Amino acid sequence: MPELPEVETVVRDLARLVKGATFTGGSVARERNLLTPDAPTFISAITGRRILGTRRRAKWVVVELTGGLLLLAHLRMTGQLLVVPAGAAGDAYVRIALSLSDGREIRFRDVRAFGRIALVAERSDGEAGSSLDPASPPLLAGHGLEPLDPSFTAEVFGGLIAQRATRIKSLLLDQRYVVGLGNIYVDEALWRASIHPLTPAKKLRPEQVFDLHRAIIQVLDQAVAARGSSINDYTAPEGDGEMQEQLDVYQRTGEPCRRCGSTIRRLVVGGRGTHVCRTCQRPPKGIRGAGTARAVMGPRWSQGATPDTVGATRRERAAALRRAARQGVVA
Ligand SMILES: [Zn+2]
Repeated sequence: MPELPEVETVVRDLARLVKGATFTGGSVARERNLLTPDAPTFISAITGRRILGTRRRAKWVVVELTGGLLLLAHLRMTGQLLVVPAGAAGDAYVRIALSLSDGREIRFRDVRAFGRIALVAERSDGEAGSSLDPASPPLLAGHGLEPLDPSFTAEVFGGLIAQRATRIKSLLLDQRYVVGLGNIYVDEALWRASIHPLTPAKKLRPEQVFDLHRAIIQVLDQAVAARGSSINDYTAPEGDGEMQEQLDVYQRTGEPCRRCGSTIRRLVVGGRGTHVCRTCQRPPKGIRGAGTARAVMGPRWSQGATPDTVGATRRERAAALRRAARQGVVA
């Protein structure tokens, strides 16, 4: 699932590719992906708007349009935003397509269909409203601190988690405290800071809070620079990320810890697969028995790609052609 670095990559790619372009229309194949407004209102309201710029709030892509409108996208599990020539082949998973005056389209492709697109008014305070009325309440209220914002200091972070009995991993996943972190980067940050994910937040010593704060910022910065982790379905308009090759614990179950050589284990914390080195990350007292589970790794979306799949890279297309040839299918 895309986290802060992946969404930030999509935002930056879109700025490079479509800033200045104007929408000339579009189509909604699956209305469930459209949070607000209804499909006819959405298409008529977006038509004629020019793209002024893009930004990110939490895990939302925010596209700023003329006329005080914001086009929002949340990729959730499998969403992808692609910029393709209007005539490019599509597939059944393209839920929303928006035409640009230069002959290209922005396509929202989403296999699981949990992603969301919204068109709303920008409020006078700069926040996204919850409808096309600029006086509507903010849509993204309730989101916590942006970890790459200068206001996210070690002191602020410490104040946020002090007194909380919640396990640190669950707290970091809770978007009401800090936004943008998901399973990948929480596991990575906790390993870097040598903190066990089941440690109650309030049991962290001041130096551990300091280390964790620094680890969160460092791993996110590194992941943004690497264009995110292309695991499962994630890809960006200008192609895959490379951070998956730099991860230290996530989905490395059974492999040696890069710090101490012990075997990376997988446990389940709050229903989420969690990757730890139990030598570097000492379990808190009384939770020593936290069981381990076997590795589960889903296929990459591109493993199901065909040579015609929209958004596939050249390498993925070539792999699809090889697979098709192996299976005796004439491509
Ligand atoms: Zn280790």
